[in-house]
Amino acid sequence: MTDNTTLLARRNRALGAGAPLFYEHPLHIVRGEGCCVYDADGRRYVDMYNNVPCVGHANPAVVEAMARQQGTLNVHSRYLHEGVVEFCERLAALHGPEIESVILSCSGTEANEIALRMARFATGKRGILCTDATYHGNSELISSLNRLGQSPSSNPSVRAFTFPEKFRPIAPGLSEAALCEAYLDKLECAIGNLNASGEGVAAMIVCSILANEGLPDIPAGFMPRAAAMVREAGGLIIADEVQAGYARTGHWWGYEVTGFSPDIVVTGKPMGNGLPLAATAASRALVETFRARTRYFNTFASSPLQAAVGMAVLDEIEQRNLRDNVTSVGTALKAALTQRKGASDTIGDVRGHGLFIGVEMVKRPDSAPDVFLARQVINRLKDKGFLTSNAGAHANVVKIRPPLPFSQADAAEFLLAWDDTIAELAA
Ligand code: PMP
Repeated sequence: MTDNTTLLARRNRALGAGAPLFYEHPLHIVRGEGCCVYDADGRRYVDMYNNVPCVGHANPAVVEAMARQQGTLNVHSRYLHEGVVEFCERLAALHGPEIESVILSCSGTEANEIALRMARFATGKRGILCTDATYHGNSELISSLNRLGQSPSSNPSVRAFTFPEKFRPIAPGLSEAALCEAYLDKLECAIGNLNASGEGVAAMIVCSILANEGLPDIPAGFMPRAAAMVREAGGLIIADEVQAGYARTGHWWGYEVTGFSPDIVVTGKPMGNGLPLAATAASRALVETFRARTRYFNTFASSPLQAAVGMAVLDEIEQRNLRDNVTSVGTALKAALTQRKGASDTIGDVRGHGLFIGVEMVKRPDSAPDVFLARQVINRLKDKGFLTSNAGAHANVVKIRPPLPFSQADAAEFLLAWDDTIAELAA
């Protein structure tokens, strides 16, 4: 077996120690194909984590489109190019008629930054609402929203509200409707606070399915009611679809699942199947106000290369009916894991949508989050050839989010490894 010690030491020097790595014994992978990656010894791992290679690792159609465009023309965006126009038209058409125009960028962080600035220009207000266990990116402004593993923000424009969930409700014994009201009260409080401070409300930004929060089951009606409340206060709604979008849930967009209509939609990770590609989509008026105020330019964005690759990814999702695959495989896998919940007292909850499933690991008798166990599960699954990770407000949720072509056979193989892992850890 290849020894990774030397490579790890070189990495610590070359990248600086502290550059994050998955797993107790880091994995040294050298190639990918479809839903699998292979390590330096040729060992195969089923990728159950990565949504960037959404149409599969080294997808031949995407690779071909990338090479063809790079071999024809690739240049910055200050020229007319039909491919770029066509791609933006196609992206906008994947939403309702109120989303008309698109600004392309290179990362989810950049696209969220554009969205927040767009909302501030449009409303003349500065205040931003987000959840208290979120992650939206890594720039100075955007990271001031993040709560996961960080101390609360000192940004005076940001107010975090308690994210809504049914598994660990903020108050015990409430009906679902009363729980929804309790969470809406928290949001109302944050809105009041922004208004009282003079910031006002520019926007609420949320991941449409609260992925980083741990994919909670949300009390029915919360998202549309929250959106209405923010609009009432003069703010816009930004759906961060960086994780939730692009067929991940079996629908194009996570906001279709949780039932609200955004003013601005942000997409990233899966759009280029690995090529840096992100987008902020909104009404023409919102986009043009932003453009007039900033003269926004991004060297690598809106390029013919981004457009060609982005088109190839959309073609793959559509031509291979990947949304249907996500729905059928995801539904069956979630049902199979849910069945196992009854048989194991360490599985507190199984949640999610489509091929995005979270399994919450807990300690009995009080269902306290068990991060240690979640990490053990993830490391043992990796040793058995299945790559997952942990996420959520308490980092105890095993996150299952394979590329979209993940098959029923892949799921069956995974369930065998899952059962062995849970049995070993219970022994
Ligand atoms: N939004 C969400 C919901 C994310 O999960 C992430 C990254 N994990 C981002 C935005 C930031 O995207 P990027 O890393 O491409 O800047």
